[in-house]
Amino acid sequence: MKPIYFDNNATTPVANEVIEEMLPYLRDYYGNPSSMHTFGGQLHRKLEEARAKVAALINAEPEEIIFTSCGTESDNTAIMSAVESYPQKRHIITSRVEHPAVLNFCKHLSRKGFRITYLPVDKLGRLDMDVFLKAIDDDTAIVSIMYANNETGVIFPIREIGEVLRNRGILFHTDAVQAVGKIPINVKELPVDMLSLSGHKLHAPKGVGALYVRKGTRFYPYIIGGHQEFGRRAGTENVASIIGLGKACELAGQYLEVEIDYLKKLRDRLEDALLQLCPDTQVNGDRENRLPNTTNISFKFVEGEAILLRLDDYGICASSGSACTSGSLEPSHVLRAMGVPFNAIHGSIRFSLSRYNTLEEVDKVIELMPEIIRDLRMLSPYGKESLKC
Ligand code: PLP
Repeated sequence: MKPIYFDNNATTPVANEVIEEMLPYLRDYYGNPSSMHTFGGQLHRKLEEARAKVAALINAEPEEIIFTSCGTESDNTAIMSAVESYPQKRHIITSRVEHPAVLNFCKHLSRKGFRITYLPVDKLGRLDMDVFLKAIDDDTAIVSIMYANNETGVIFPIREIGEVLRNRGILFHTDAVQAVGKIPINVKELPVDMLSLSGHKLHAPKGVGALYVRKGTRFYPYIIGGHQEFGRRAGTENVASIIGLGKACELAGQYLEVEIDYLKKLRDRLEDALLQLCPDTQVNGDRENRLPNTTNISFKFVEGEAILLRLDDYGICASSGSACTSGSLEPSHVLRAMGVPFNAIHGSIRFSLSRYNTLEEVDKVIELMPEIIRDLRMLSPYGKESLKC
């Protein structure tokens, strides 16, 4: 049975066009792009074509793109590069709601003696700019703030932050893993020095990502070895996946405008219906300034995991909190930072859509959810208070 896949912030299906583009480079053209012979060397040109396509999606120059193995590597590289490039500086600013790719890397650096400021967010998941302004000092090496949050979809004021940092000698990195391919991004007009993206969030395969590094930015490689990626990231290139990432970025650029409207329409239909049909629900995050594909809804007095299991019985895929933290019963650090009440955090479900979802799928979820919530509340000692659904 084909699943109803509403978990596209966790990962996306690889587009058919991407698979087609990649196949010859898995099957026939298996050479090493660094080889002197034509068979391998011809792949070098394909890598550069892919680099140009990735660059075009965010309006960068091709030489500003470094291919990596994933969003996590891009994030780690950006932060590590800043602290290696400015060794006299020992302070990093980030937010409490970052992905573990940034948060846990910062924790790692704090154990090595770096000072980390974790900026708070308000109840809608918006960054506190006053705290940010006060946190900056001469010791700050880098500010790393995500473009859009993976759990709520809330979009951060990247331009404003970049403008504050401009000409202050502080690097600015944004983890745009959830934003690239979902909303327009133009680095020529955006004051960021580095930006991370990941293939599997935009219909390319898993295991490939990229880091944009603005021309002129001091850079120190994280993976050290051979001369690949102009000496900025060693390791034989994941040729087929990089070609796939290039194709996925080309498709994202082609579809972006129509897709934004389409996804908003589906997402809002789902969200409005669930809020209307199920009492004691709330949307987590700033509804005015979110990714078009994401909604995070709390169904109070029920366990998110129980909802997921019931949805799973119908082949519906969603997530509670971030996919990376599910499996543990730790409540979402993002919702906690937003001060979402305990009974609402535990029943929070993230639905994240993609261009491959349909109105019929949305209507199926709308049809099933009220009954699922009602049943689960019947079983819950707290839920009996709330049985109007
Ligand atoms: N940053 C954000 C905001 C993410 O959502 C994710 C993945 O969920 C990552 C980084 C990590 O990306 P990857 O899975 O490619 O390492």
